[in-house]
Amino acid sequence: MALRTLNDLDFKNKRVLVRVDYNVPIKEGKVSDATRIEASLPTLKKLLSEGSSLILMSHLGRPKGAEDKYRLSPVAKKLSELIGRDVRYEAASGPTAKEQQSFVAVAPKGSITLLENTRFDSREEENDPEFSRALASYADVYVNDAFGAAHRAHASTEGVTHYLPSAAGYLLEKEISTLSKLIKNPESPFKVIIGGAKVSDKIGVIENLLDVADEILIGGAMAYTFFKAQGGKVGKSLVEDDKLDLANDLLKRAKAKNTKILLPSDSMCAQEIAEGVETKVFPSDDIPEGWMGLDIGPDAIKTYQNSLKDAKTILWNGPMGVFEVVPFNTGTNEVAKTVAHLDGFTVVGGGDSVAAINKSGLADKIDHISTGGGASLELLEGKTLPGVAALER
Ligand code: ADP
Ligand code: MG
Repeated sequence: MALRTLNDLDFKNKRVLVRVDYNVPIKEGKVSDATRIEASLPTLKKLLSEGSSLILMSHLGRPKGAEDKYRLSPVAKKLSELIGRDVRYEAASGPTAKEQQSFVAVAPKGSITLLENTRFDSREEENDPEFSRALASYADVYVNDAFGAAHRAHASTEGVTHYLPSAAGYLLEKEISTLSKLIKNPESPFKVIIGGAKVSDKIGVIENLLDVADEILIGGAMAYTFFKAQGGKVGKSLVEDDKLDLANDLLKRAKAKNTKILLPSDSMCAQEIAEGVETKVFPSDDIPEGWMGLDIGPDAIKTYQNSLKDAKTILWNGPMGVFEVVPFNTGTNEVAKTVAHLDGFTVVGGGDSVAAINKSGLADKIDHISTGGGASLELLEGKTLPGVAALER
């Protein structure tokens, strides 16, 4: 079923309850990275241009009750700077507390009000109907633009949709349409680069993509679980010993589905993870005792670059090595450069991979950078996100 979007509802002079993802890093009482706030501006501006008043809500962190350090005051300040208007905010014990209700009741036409942290009220995560109804009572319509929270059935993402006409904002709409196309009908050749620390985090994604991808290029620590499963020697590389059978099983299933899985032929290795230590390149299935694979090697980099050349669609999730430590960032940087300069449609997702691409200064050369973390992974696993399903009813 189709997702309802901003085109499907009337916002003229309406009070609009908007779920945004303002779960941003705060340092010394200030927002230290405003990417998520900036990303919400197109939706907010569109709604304001219709003469509506906005009542915004978001969670921040994992507070236990109304903890001062999780108040949304720094967010209100930053949003006001970025949007160039006053943002109404009043500290409260929760978003539906009495004082908050009277504060919202006097919101002028065309104003922006930011509610207090939704997670100050434990009923948020319980998806409590009474709490959802109280939130819904603030407005005439509801817009969800918080992709990063769409995999959770909480009051502010799912509960409120039972009480108000609801639609997806621009950000949520773009994430869903882009990622759904990848798993449903990507233009082929579709090549997927998967890395990171654990196979167990990405198994669902690899399984689901076996059906649609032409090639899956594996990097990061998870590669060593595959090598060990096939009887290779991996020294003291990070391995998930309880996932060896599963790794073999994935390889078998890939073969049956005619999806090629590429493993890195060589690895850059060291005896400890630190800058300036001695490094050596070994075949990834023949790493000596005491050494560990910390990045894909020069041969693997070349193979992967070659393989990616003809790709029409590319999805990258998870770094190729311990990119936080020089020189084990080499594989990740080379893949970042390669992906950035491909002609195909490129998508990068995952907290650390997105951090790596931002650090490399190549982010603007990627067609879609997914902001979702857990939500992107669940979508790529083929799961239905409750916050999204609620906008399709
Ligand atoms: P993402 O956030 O992009 O989904 P993950 O969280 O799955 O990525 O994995 C990132 C982590 O994996 C990084 O902290 C990185 O240091 C670690 N990592 C990657 N390759 C290796 C390796 N060969 N050995 C140990 N850790 C690794
Ligand atoms: Mg991560």
